Amino acid sequence: MAKIQMKNPVVEMDGDEMTRVLWGWIKEILIEPYVDLKAEYYDLSLTERDRTDDKVTVESALAAKKHGVAVKCATITPNAQRVEEYHLKKMWKSPNGTIRGILDGTVFRTPILADGIKSYVPGWKKPITIARHAYGDIYSASEERLEEDEDAYLLVCDKDGKELRRKEIHFFDGPGIVQGMHNTDKSIASFARSCFSYALSVKEPLWFGTKDTISKTYDHRFKDIFAEIYEEEYKEAFEREGLEYLYTLVDDIVARVIRSEGGFVWACKNYDGDVLSDMVATAFGSLGMMSSVLVSPDGTYEYEAAHGTVTRHYYKHLNGEETSTNSCATIWAWTGALDKRGEKDGTPKLCAFAKKLEDATRRTIEEGFMTGDLIPLFEKKGVTPVKLNSREFLEKIAEKL
Ligand code: NAP
Ligand code: MG
Repeated sequence: MAKIQMKNPVVEMDGDEMTRVLWGWIKEILIEPYVDLKAEYYDLSLTERDRTDDKVTVESALAAKKHGVAVKCATITPNAQRVEEYHLKKMWKSPNGTIRGILDGTVFRTPILADGIKSYVPGWKKPITIARHAYGDIYSASEERLEEDEDAYLLVCDKDGKELRRKEIHFFDGPGIVQGMHNTDKSIASFARSCFSYALSVKEPLWFGTKDTISKTYDHRFKDIFAEIYEEEYKEAFEREGLEYLYTLVDDIVARVIRSEGGFVWACKNYDGDVLSDMVATAFGSLGMMSSVLVSPDGTYEYEAAHGTVTRHYYKHLNGEETSTNSCATIWAWTGALDKRGEKDGTPKLCAFAKKLEDATRRTIEEGFMTGDLIPLFEKKGVTPVKLNSREFLEKIAEKL
């Protein structure tokens, strides 16, 4: 066939370990035979981030802003053990944190459902989309260890450094820790707008919860900004569509989520979204079945898998052992990016290709061919599931495609 042409590039952010291996295979087996891929390539592997003093991460985020669509492979966020393993110059920050800091915006995570893959929570029949605020809080916090007899304050200065206000956090009569974090009205407002718009676009209710009873200034600000924006800009549209905006304490939301049958968008503060999206993904089947997109207020879309670099499988792969790593979420990152590129450029063939690749992947699983993580979850009358290795799974999808 003649390859499908692209007008503008997607920004390609390559990554680490097992997902980097899958990344190359997905391109080779499922994309490049059909699409004349236009990609502006950035290597975000830990080695390259270290070599460039992490400049490559910033450059890739600026490129995403410029071109409007990016696709990112999972990357290692270094910890002390990684600093040793990779002989790093320093413990570089989380690349996702850096990219989100530049793009701002909200991360939407939706499970990929396939017929036959059952949820661990039997009541969940429809997808639950987690909307994670991707700016601030602990992800860009300052932290300190304190010694005995030290006093920690929250200090506010004007732009010339003159002290305006000070508040004691804690006097330490023994060693301890302190953390200072922030958010901005602007970022919270754009988080709120992204959530309300997204819920309207998928015609699902929006749920939101914080700990505003304890955090009377910080979390309460989230609650108030959401309420104001809802009243002024979205209430009418929600009522017209018969959709609900539900705000309650985060503890209460968690309980309601478990009792629900799914089918709503759940807005989460940054940390809640980080943790709860892993829980929701696992409950819906596998981390390998959770797609993720960062939508920035200026309309930049960055697609990625919600899981990490699958280190345990990578070490097996390096040892020459067979792996059966689920590539669905990484495939969905590519199809999301190609579909959005096609939509922005007015190239419907590219959108159709993305849709076909998703269908082929879903049908491969529904017909019983899958990676090991899905085998124990699969239950379909008349179909005995077959476990394929990482590469065979992609080749099976290519057959369908
Ligand atoms: P992980 O890579 O998500 O893997 C945790 C476990 O979940 C795996 O060992 C595997 O379980 C299962 N799993 C995850 N994805 C899977 C897939 N596609 N197919 C099959 N099983 C899958 O998390 P991690 O091991 O905690 O982190 C590894 C590295 O990833 C870390 O260096 C971390 O910094 C990084 N990370 C990056 C991102 C990102 O770039 N967005 C996100 C999270 C973590 P079994 O071993 O039981 O098979
Ligand atoms: Mg997480």
